[in-house]
Amino acid sequence: MHTQRVIVVGGGLAGLAACVRLAEAGLDVDLFSLVPVKRSHSVCAQGGINACNDVARQQGYSEYEHFDETIYGGDYLADQHPVLEMANWAPRIIDLLDRMGVPFNRTSEGFRDLRLFGGSLFKRTHFAGATTGQQLLYALDEQTRRYASEGKITKYEFWDFLAPVVDDGRAVGIVAQDLRTMQVRSFPAAAVVMATGGCGLVFGKSTNSVICTGAAAARCFKHGVWYGNPEMIQVHPTAIPGADKLRLMSESARGEGGRVWVPRKARDARRARDIPDAERYYFLEEKYPKYGNIVPRDIATREIFDICVNQGLGVGGENSVYLDLTHKDPEYLTRKLGGILEIYEKFVGVDPRVEPMKIFPGVHYSMGGLYTVFEPGRYTPREALDKHRSGAGAPIGAEVGLGMSPGDPRNMSTNIPGLYAFGEVNFAYHGANRLGANALLSCLFDGLFCGQSVVSYVRDALPKAPEPRQAALDAAARAEENHAAALLASASGSAEPDASTNPYVIHKELGVEMTSACTVVKSGPRLEQCRAKLAELRERFSKVRLGDAATWTNQTLSFTRGVGDMLLIAEAICLGSIERRESRGAHYRTDFQERDDANFMKTSLAKYDPQRGVTLEFVPIDATLVRPTARTYGKVEKKEPAAPSMATV
Ligand SMILES: Cc1cc2nc3c(=O)[nH]c(=O)nc-3n(C[C@H](O)[C@H](O)[C@H](O)COP(=O)(O)OP(=O)(O)OC[C@H]3O[C@@H](n4cnc5c(N)ncnc54)[C@H](O)[C@@H]3O)c2cc1C
Repeated sequence: MHTQRVIVVGGGLAGLAACVRLAEAGLDVDLFSLVPVKRSHSVCAQGGINACNDVARQQGYSEYEHFDETIYGGDYLADQHPVLEMANWAPRIIDLLDRMGVPFNRTSEGFRDLRLFGGSLFKRTHFAGATTGQQLLYALDEQTRRYASEGKITKYEFWDFLAPVVDDGRAVGIVAQDLRTMQVRSFPAAAVVMATGGCGLVFGKSTNSVICTGAAAARCFKHGVWYGNPEMIQVHPTAIPGADKLRLMSESARGEGGRVWVPRKARDARRARDIPDAERYYFLEEKYPKYGNIVPRDIATREIFDICVNQGLGVGGENSVYLDLTHKDPEYLTRKLGGILEIYEKFVGVDPRVEPMKIFPGVHYSMGGLYTVFEPGRYTPREALDKHRSGAGAPIGAEVGLGMSPGDPRNMSTNIPGLYAFGEVNFAYHGANRLGANALLSCLFDGLFCGQSVVSYVRDALPKAPEPRQAALDAAARAEENHAAALLASASGSAEPDASTNPYVIHKELGVEMTSACTVVKSGPRLEQCRAKLAELRERFSKVRLGDAATWTNQTLSFTRGVGDMLLIAEAICLGSIERRESRGAHYRTDFQERDDANFMKTSLAKYDPQRGVTLEFVPIDATLVRPTARTYGKVEKKEPAAPSMATV
């Protein structure tokens, strides 16, 4: 009999939602996390989670509108069928979380309150103050504990996932290391779910938690799992600069009425409150009158970048613009945004209720991730529809199974059978740009809906293996033990310390290079420089030296191993950025400024093999539901003031 245990790597929203679904179906789950699950990055999510509800529906919103604006927001690069199914499930997911006790904000009439978020003209974002991620994570943690107390879920916290074990072409377990005892061992499983979050640390400073290295995804990539759209990195328009890391100022600040502006006069030295309205440049509102401050993130980011870097209009000549909430009632702000205003006050020392905040874009999210497949559902229009008109009746209902076939073992499986990718580490839902408040939804949808697909795989699709694959598990564990031993041995050499082989120095240089070359504005020549720099860093990393040989809680070992993996993901990001010779969503090339659907409305697929290294190809996406249109968000081209005519001179 083959084992019926499933391994879930990652205890954020996607991982915990998967655990709950799997345990509920009667499978035993081993849950791995670098940190206590309640410290997973999801706890930091602030602004909310998108879903249609009855209040939104009365305004003319629908699940279909949610689907359509997500496809448009992602600049037609997302997989359309999974997005349709996700949008249709969103209200059900919110109802479930409500029943689990998530304290969503409510209106005075008792309805779940909604706020505006980027890329939509409708209020459709549910929220729990400004700590939505924390409330969701804690609710799922309660459920996980219930199953843990029944022996259905076993938690391995402070364990580092090192490798998937693949035998006969399918996943049969993992290798992991206990970060306290440093023991390396393998764990068998009938299926493995990767739910390991994003890779912000590849860019050094980001809004992500410092454990978001992307190393776990890189380790799958190294073992043959394909990686989709690596070049699609989201830079959030409103981050709070910091010496150690960036902190997010959530989009909910703009959703609740925050206005972005700079003084019209460059280097205006007056305090913000002394600058009259007529002398303020509300550039998002002027250029995008329809969406104003809630244009999607890629657009807001490029506009802020342009204002500061190209036009030199940043506040005080610096890379910063105002995000202003001071016109709003302070009591209202505290009720709706208390958590994030506290963060600003704590780290900047200024009360945003009184002074406008100073913000600048920062690396935030990875739309790219492990490549996954799906089984399409029942909705097959004869031809793809045009973009939905906001507020118009939906062409289809929101029944289950229109987008994806429920419970099909293929849903969100990687190219290795039995290995699934859920949450931010999955590439499928957000295309070239994620709409704010859709990430939490995709995590929960993956766990709760696609979790059922893992159950089907284990119960019905998995070949009945006569023996546990012990030889493969042992060999994989030995390889990782040897890798760890070689890194540890580098700490005991007698050579003088050398900055060029110091893992922290290598990581710092990696972050600076990637932020400079692979974020808001990219160009062929700069990307080629980046490729050369990455080769240099890889060469230096091959001689890396640890500063700590301890065989107990050696954090340097875990960090250093992660640096090697970040270099691999960086290579895929850089290569994808080079090969995608167009501009789409968050990927903007100065040398190819237009979107090129004929050649690039395709997923970029990075593959790795030890001989050829990282390679990239483009594969078609199934775009049979929505037809691409120009993605302008109602931009008004600036009318140049008429040149003075001879008559007026
Ligand atoms: C500051 C901030 C605010 C945000 N706010 C919102 C919001 O309001 N709405 C929204 O929709 N989205 C928001 N997002 C995005 C959203 O929070 C994330 O995309 C989402 O929480 C990711 O969840 P996840 O479950 O995929 O991964 P995570 O929550 O990042 O969890 C990853 C898990 O994997 C584990 N792990 C990682 N590597 C290993 C390894 N090697 N071995 C073992 N375990 C490992 C970690 O320990 C962790 O348990 C925000 C993002 C940021 C940065």
